[in-house]
Amino acid sequence: MKKAVIFKTSKGNLFLYSPFRNQVLLCHPLIRHLFELNESGTDLKQYIQSFRPGQEIEIPEYGGFPFSELIYQWNKFRFLKKNRFFQIPRNINLNGRLLPSRVSKNISRIQQVIFETTEDCNLSCTYCTYSKFYINKERGKRKFNPADARKALDHMLSMRDKDASQLTISFYGGEPLKNIRFIQEIVDYLTNTYGDRYNFRFTMSSNGLLLSKYAGFLTSNNFEISVSLDGDEVGNSFRLLPNKQSSFDLVVKNLDFIKENFPDYFDKNISFLTVLHNKNSFSSVHAFFKQKYGKTPLVSLISTQHINEEYKEEFHKTFIEGTRNDEHQKTVIRELMLNHPAMKDLSNVIEKYSGYIFKNHFEIMTTSNGNGGTKEFVPTATCSPFSLRVFLTADGCIVPCEHISRVFEIGQLKNNEIRIQNETVADLFNRCFDKIRPLCNQCFLADNCKECVFNTGVETENPVCEYFMDVKKFPLYLARNFNLIEENFSLYRHLINEAFHE
Ligand code: SF4
Ligand code: SF4
Repeated sequence: MKKAVIFKTSKGNLFLYSPFRNQVLLCHPLIRHLFELNESGTDLKQYIQSFRPGQEIEIPEYGGFPFSELIYQWNKFRFLKKNRFFQIPRNINLNGRLLPSRVSKNISRIQQVIFETTEDCNLSCTYCTYSKFYINKERGKRKFNPADARKALDHMLSMRDKDASQLTISFYGGEPLKNIRFIQEIVDYLTNTYGDRYNFRFTMSSNGLLLSKYAGFLTSNNFEISVSLDGDEVGNSFRLLPNKQSSFDLVVKNLDFIKENFPDYFDKNISFLTVLHNKNSFSSVHAFFKQKYGKTPLVSLISTQHINEEYKEEFHKTFIEGTRNDEHQKTVIRELMLNHPAMKDLSNVIEKYSGYIFKNHFEIMTTSNGNGGTKEFVPTATCSPFSLRVFLTADGCIVPCEHISRVFEIGQLKNNEIRIQNETVADLFNRCFDKIRPLCNQCFLADNCKECVFNTGVETENPVCEYFMDVKKFPLYLARNFNLIEENFSLYRHLINEAFHE
């Protein structure tokens, strides 16, 4: 259960965070001292009476304070207490459930349909989730059946809300361009059958090896392509061809071809996805993409989920050990501002916990103390099934998205038949929520969660969440973010203007 905490920044400043008041206040060491005594059940009145005028009170790390200061801070402590700064807020109500009726409503407004175009890939990356390092079934070579894809699209478009005219169709792999025929067929089918009623946006994640070969088709259909590349040649050294040679030169050659021959298309439609590990750093990949292509990649960390116990040590040695210190982090933060994960985190902390960010005047008047209440929420930050996207696999599973395990199947698409049962989908989600709820009820981030229930091991006996925050971790999290402000106040001012002022 969330309660008031006091945290200390690296410059030694102490701050009180009150979840009841939703405010952060700079506080005196004596306030922390009294707060800690109060927490341990000490009778504070008696404690104060045990001191005499002229006597000094010694606080570890902060030295001695005169009796007059103790009395002043004691009065302040009582003022804070009276104004409920230390009160435990009503817990956020996480008893919400997904209703079956929500499922078809979501399908009627779905934003993105993602096809696992083929399981086959023309790279053999060391950190692939199909490698020995991860618990996963072996990668097959299955290709998506076009008739099944048409069936799924017909089904979803037949349920579509009249005003939902935009739909994104994405091709994922393996390497999707290894099944170009399927892609061409689906693009043609949608354009010819539904092109007068809907605007289709075509996107793809690709390793870039076949980009030049299919450049004509991709550019003429305005494909938006995210190319996976981990920075310069050293940074990219885990992305290998099946013969274990580097893929870097081939991919860069293809990218340069597109850039030279279709410069406007390259600027607007090509983006980059980068995985961070011990051969690159946020600064190194940022410098590479900025200098070579004038772009900022989308960065993610190497996945540490579902690691094969047998290769755990080797995984750590290969990808984590020797991770570089990001020497130029401050410069990159300044350049990227809200595109940098540290700044995103900080702006989120300021918005959620500072107590001085309001979206509008109405919010200032209606923000109630104590938060929580009777409104029911589901635990975690999981998106409602089919509300944003759906992932259709080459072997006929329907899964909420491409990032999560097939264990969480929410339907089947096989032999020209699609099966989605609202009750079964709702039941799966609700069972997962039930399993993680006890942990989320204890978590300080429950009202600001960013984690998906399907990443918390709910399929196992003991779900765990790597973002779970208790009374020990939460103050460290706040301190880490406030350190950034203290180390660079002008950056903070800049952030406030960029993130919160219109
Ligand atoms: S990871 Fe979870 S929350 Fe994110 S898109 Fe997939 S299902 Fe939704
Ligand atoms: S961070 Fe994890 S434990 Fe905390 S609320 Fe989110 S899912 Fe639950």
